[in-house]
Amino acid sequence: MTPDERRVELAGNLADLRARIAAACAVAGRDEREVTLIAVTKTFPASDVRLLAELGLTEVGENRDQEAGPKAAECADLPLTWHFVGSLQTNKARSVAAYADVVHSVDRARLVTALSGAAVRAGRTLRCLVQVSLDPEEAAGRGGAAPGDVPALADAIAEADALELGGVMAVAPLGADPAPAFARLAGIANEVRGTHPSATMVSAGMSGDLEQAIACGATHLRIGTALLGGRRSIVR
Ligand SMILES: *Cc1c(COP(=O)(O)O)cnc(C)c1O
Repeated sequence: MTPDERRVELAGNLADLRARIAAACAVAGRDEREVTLIAVTKTFPASDVRLLAELGLTEVGENRDQEAGPKAAECADLPLTWHFVGSLQTNKARSVAAYADVVHSVDRARLVTALSGAAVRAGRTLRCLVQVSLDPEEAAGRGGAAPGDVPALADAIAEADALELGGVMAVAPLGADPAPAFARLAGIANEVRGTHPSATMVSAGMSGDLEQAIACGATHLRIGTALLGGRRSIVR
């Protein structure tokens, strides 16, 4: 595919996606401007990020540091906000803190400490979301803090140097109806806002469940497939 053909394809996907988001907002009685689209560009080249930027997107998401770092560097001339959405090892905190603006996957106290130290060293401020596990307990291990641990983690982020608490993030449970899970997330988000009023971000909704997420108050959608097409390998 030539760059021009890819541009046309991405523009078409983006138009379809915007129509889906608009329809879901209409059903939910929400203003479209409350919902931010993050293009999850994992497995796709920096040239796609560049085309998306030309199409007006400013928010980009990645889930692996090894891929995200070089891609962000290649796109350093573009006015983009980089979201790190994948599970994160503490030994990658320094690297991620160098290019990420928002980290969606903070799910344990040690990671708060590591990110805070890394952000201080880098002279940057990182906006952090508490990733909440919406899986049944027996399916835990896909990342995310247990709902009961969220308030303490939110406090830890809010108190940490060079970190800013943005809100919460979740991935719908595997093979289960996303709607009740996202409703649960909305309750947790509300609780966090009770103590941290500026933590207004609710990162939920992917290509397959953005309607349910919008219905439950999502403010940030993380969309890969519906925008960029199918990934050759499943990278999560
Ligand atoms: C890959 C990924 C997405 C995007 O998923 P799609 O189903 O392709 O839209 C969203 N969130 C996270 C955490 C991801 O890893």
